Amino acid sequence: MQQKLISSRTRLVGLFGNPARHSLSPVIHNAFLKSTGIDAVYLTFEFPGENFDEAFIGAKRLGLIGLNITMPFKENAYKLMDNKDARSTAIGSVNTVKFNSSTGNSKGFNTDVDGFVSSIEDSGFNWNGSNCLILGAGGSAKSSVFALLEKPVKKIYIYNRTTEKAEKIKNSYSKEKRIKIEVLEGLEGIDPESMDLICNCTPLGMDAPGVSELLPIPDQWDLKDVLVFEMIYKPLETRLIIKGKNEGARIIDGLDMLINQAASSFKIWFDIDPEKKDIRGKLVNFLINKN
Ligand code: NAP
Repeated sequence: MQQKLISSRTRLVGLFGNPARHSLSPVIHNAFLKSTGIDAVYLTFEFPGENFDEAFIGAKRLGLIGLNITMPFKENAYKLMDNKDARSTAIGSVNTVKFNSSTGNSKGFNTDVDGFVSSIEDSGFNWNGSNCLILGAGGSAKSSVFALLEKPVKKIYIYNRTTEKAEKIKNSYSKEKRIKIEVLEGLEGIDPESMDLICNCTPLGMDAPGVSELLPIPDQWDLKDVLVFEMIYKPLETRLIIKGKNEGARIIDGLDMLINQAASSFKIWFDIDPEKKDIRGKLVNFLINKN
């Protein structure tokens, strides 16, 4: 479907973050808007943290359809919501906001959970009785653990260089849920064959100084029967992905996650499931040509 010209009727959806200008979200959402024929544009807004509250109130007053919120504003946004869904309340962070078109009231959501679950379900993974290892204890690890606790997994192991942060995630759950979580103090002595899913929620392997050549797991681990979930999408092939592919592992990469969480935000704003199949190619082209 052809996109309408921008006019006085065109509505706005935004991304608040810092940095935000490097984000792939405009590529995804503007493609979704074009394919659904919705008269709106998606733009990024990058500004200093001290301006967040005013910028948020501005978006609300100006009648934006909604916002995505990325680092470092997810917790700030959480505090400013008029309403929140159960998931964002449990996780304590908001990455998607919808403004009510009549009252302007904001409702906060966390679509990282949907992005994580959809990516794994698309791969045909069997949740039943599975052992899952989460590497890291930051924002994405927190939402991944939350997602796993909603599924019939057997055990969730969390390993983070700062053990207390992993313990904090565990302790944020009720006693019944906590039984399923085990915090690891190290990865030595762990049998990778006992793991069904290994998810990297650290920046190890990312295209950044000091981490790009690093693996978040011991090099000697054999990943042949594991579903490897890599959150990083820059580069497209991290050392973990290359290792997993060489050893015959099934792979979910950071683009799968990014597209699925974006589709979930789009559904919240417009109540439409956007077509995802052409988006990956667009993102790969964008990453190759623009960065
Ligand atoms: P975060 O909140 O900053 O957490 C990062 C975690 O990694 C922390 O637990 C931190 O450990 C650990 N870490 C940082 N540097 C490390 C190092 N050098 N060695 C070992 N551990 C280290 O980040 P996040 O938001 O969870 O994001 C994590 C990764 O996922 C990032 O690469 C991000 O770009 C990616 N991501 C991708 C998507 C997507 O849609 N594909 C979505 C979200 C995030 P400490 O606790 O000890 O500091």
